Amino acid sequence: MSAHGVVNPATEEVIGTVDLCDAASTDAAIERSHKAFSAWRAVSPGDRARLLRRFAEGVDANLEELAQLEVANSGHTISNARWEAGNVRDVLNYYAAAPERLIGQQIPVPGGVDVTFHEPLGVVGVIVPWNFPMPIAGWGFAPALAAGNTVVLKPAELTPLTAIRIGEIAREAGIPEDVLQILPGRGAVVGQRFVDHPLVRKIVFTGSTAVGKQVMAGCAAHVKRVTLELGGKNANIIFADADLERAAATAPYGVFDNAGQDCCARSRILVQRSVFDRFLELFEPAVNGVVVGDPAAEATEMGPLISAEHRSRVAGYLNETTVAFQGDCPDGPGFWFPPTVVLPASNSERVVTEEVFGPIVTVTAFDDESDAIALANDTEYGLSGSIWTTNVGRALRVARAVEAGNLSVNSHSSVRYWTPFGGVKQSGLGRELGPDALHAFTETKNVFIATD
Ligand code: NDP
Repeated sequence: MSAHGVVNPATEEVIGTVDLCDAASTDAAIERSHKAFSAWRAVSPGDRARLLRRFAEGVDANLEELAQLEVANSGHTISNARWEAGNVRDVLNYYAAAPERLIGQQIPVPGGVDVTFHEPLGVVGVIVPWNFPMPIAGWGFAPALAAGNTVVLKPAELTPLTAIRIGEIAREAGIPEDVLQILPGRGAVVGQRFVDHPLVRKIVFTGSTAVGKQVMAGCAAHVKRVTLELGGKNANIIFADADLERAAATAPYGVFDNAGQDCCARSRILVQRSVFDRFLELFEPAVNGVVVGDPAAEATEMGPLISAEHRSRVAGYLNETTVAFQGDCPDGPGFWFPPTVVLPASNSERVVTEEVFGPIVTVTAFDDESDAIALANDTEYGLSGSIWTTNVGRALRVARAVEAGNLSVNSHSSVRYWTPFGGVKQSGLGRELGPDALHAFTETKNVFIATD
């Protein structure tokens, strides 16, 4: 164990210290998790459901505390942070319905009866990034626990506080201590042990594509199940027939929410050439209208970036492109960066091809539907995207043609806990959330019983 200072990105003050797990304490936790598995999977479906609902009630009862903790640790706006804590509650409630509905099949076969069971996997390792510490943790642990698995969870080094508190709330709700363990620590230590330890049967990883590939390679050595939610370079496609005022008014929030530190950020705006100039006229005041500042203030719409290192990485993109206009942000302490709009000279600029993960958006013109689709798909990523048009046929044609896991028409919504979420191409593997997520945490077992 070693102590690690946790920093408030809006003030640069150290707000607490957290003990980081080393490899030996991680292994010990994995072994305890493995021991707890047989008792947890044996908890009757109704009782497991009741425990998860009680856990959800605990999150709800502590919602404001969790939200304030996220504001301080991650610089999320208070309104976002309340939504995020509420999302953990809702996802727990949603999957609390699952243990009693984990229904197998009875398959007609000659000579006997054939039935299938959805068996839990064992210990599930959840590796969480710093950009959405609460929701991404919940999307992993809630369905995993509901399906009868035990969970070890590693929060990001920069943002461990809400996960630690949620672990306490789980225990207060009666979830046995070793069934859900929160293990703060370094990715290369704790995360790597999850990948390498043979008793961890599945990894749920959200983070960068580079680390995701290493995780997948490490899992291959054990034929370990893996779900990957990786980066995105998502297009916001605006056709000339769209409600241009609404498209322009909402576009800043489609990319600058969470200061652009969102794998679903619509960081490439593609606008039909005939309305390109009009769109920019409408877009500039909308960008200037984004309220950037103290994340604890109710009216704030965008907070700081997560760290000084990340801010200098984001700023680096502006050395190689043309800035059209920028909004405001505070000066003084805090890792601030203004909402920034770029008109790239070429689609090969890094700001167009790489995931910036900050409040920078590119705006590019396209000629027609096929040009828009080609530009949208000109990326190794495929997570989300938006299509703005009043033509229903076009909306459906383009939604089917864009290579991404989550598309929204005349909106920027990506994540709804009722519906599947995940990427294609290098944005990931597998789906979280929605009615089918349980099956990512179970194996189908087939049992034949001879009657002859
Ligand atoms: P990483 O991919 O490094 O981190 C994500 C998580 O993986 C963290 O918990 C990290 O731990 C852990 N991790 C790091 N190395 C390993 C390893 N070898 N084995 C297992 N787990 C590991 O992302 P960064 O935080 O470095 O962000 C870099 C970039 O990645 C961002 O700028 C953005 O472009 C992208 N990103 C995308 C996200 C998404 O939602 N798709 C989320 C976060 C980042 P630790 O915190 O200790 O390093």
